[in-house]
Parts: sequence; C-alpha cells; structure tokens
Amino acid sequence: MKIGGLVKFTLIDFPGRPAAIIFTQGCNFRCRYCHNPELVYPHMFTEPVTEEEIWSFLKRRQGTLEGVVVSGGEPTLHEDLPVFMARLKEMGYATKLDTNGARPAVLKELIDKKLVDFIAMDLKAPLEKYSAITGIETSPAILKESMDLIIHSGLEYEFRTTYDKEVLTDADITALQELTGRKNYRVQECLPVAKEKNVLKVMHKEI
Ligand code: SF4
Repeated sequence: MKIGGLVKFTLIDFPGRPAAIIFTQGCNFRCRYCHNPELVYPHMFTEPVTEEEIWSFLKRRQGTLEGVVVSGGEPTLHEDLPVFMARLKEMGYATKLDTNGARPAVLKELIDKKLVDFIAMDLKAPLEKYSAITGIETSPAILKESMDLIIHSGLEYEFRTTYDKEVLTDADITALQELTGRKNYRVQECLPVAKEKNVLKVMHKEI
C-alpha cells in the first residue's frame, strides 16, 4: 500500500467509533472538486508513510482506538488492500472503507472475507452523468454493481454526494435519493475552496 497520510484520531469519520484514518495514494477518477489532489496526481505525491510506521502507531493505540478508516485517493486500486485490511482485523480494529465504487470485485472480496465493517461510497452523480464530475468515462454498470454489493452486504454503509451545483440539479439529487432507496444517503456541500484548488491543478496539468 502506498500511504500518503495518517490522521491519528477522529470521532466523526467512523460512526460510533473513535478511529484513525489512513489515506492511500492514487485515484482513477479526476473529480472536478477533489479536495485531495496530493493523493490523486502522482507528481503531487509526498513521501509515503511507511507501513511500519502505521503498524507501530496502531499497536500503540490498541485499546484506545476502535476503528481504522481506509480512505484515499481510491484504496481499491492497491492490490494488497485485502491483506492490509486483514491485518487491521487481526489487531482487533473495526474497519471502514471509503471508495468511489469503481472496483466492485475488490469490494466483493473484502465483504466475502469479512474484512470490512462499514463501506462509504461516493455517489458522484446520476450514473449517466458521472463523467461530467469524474472527468473520465465511468461505466454505469460497474457503479451499479458496487452499489448492489454494498446494499446487500449486511454491513453498515453510506452513500454520499457532493452537491456540485455547476453540474448537478435538485432533480439529480432526488434521483440519487431514489437510487439508494432513500436509505443511508447523505448530501454534502461542495466547498468552493476545494474547487479552486483543483482548478489550479488542472490548469497546471494543461500547461
Ligand atoms: S474519487 Fe475522491 S480522491 Fe478520487 S478524484 Fe474523486 S474526489 Fe478525488
């Protein structure tokens, strides 16, 4: 795993559990409002946090922290994610995965092997409008496969949409609520500062 950051304590990112957050490097999407470009664009990656540092920290926090959130970037791009999550479970941690839903086969493996307790998936837009947010062609069938896996997993889960009003409409949000069955769905504000950050990044890339 290439790990770009560690938040040592949060009470809000893993519902009901004091947790740490691990941020993996690399993402297959290029969302127009991304607030973590340093985890997306390879030339912005910082020196990775070593796994030894992570395991050492988590060993010291056993009995204090209850959970670990694995976020990104997009964690499912990392081939060794299942091994990493298995070690978290062996240490007694509850695990939460934040994902963009682009790799349902990995989600299935984590669910089948009972390596994850909570899955949060970004629902960027109605499936036919996805690329307007993600900047790449995105298969509606793949996203729907991930959604169905999560909904039927028996795990705690959440779908969440960043409401980018330059692309999405109120009707889109209503459609997304319907798509999730109006359960475990949250809409979050699109922060202008984050958008400016990404605009700068895109400009830089084009040059
Ligand atoms: S999926 Fe998340 S990390 Fe990846 S580009 Fe979109 S907002 Fe950024």
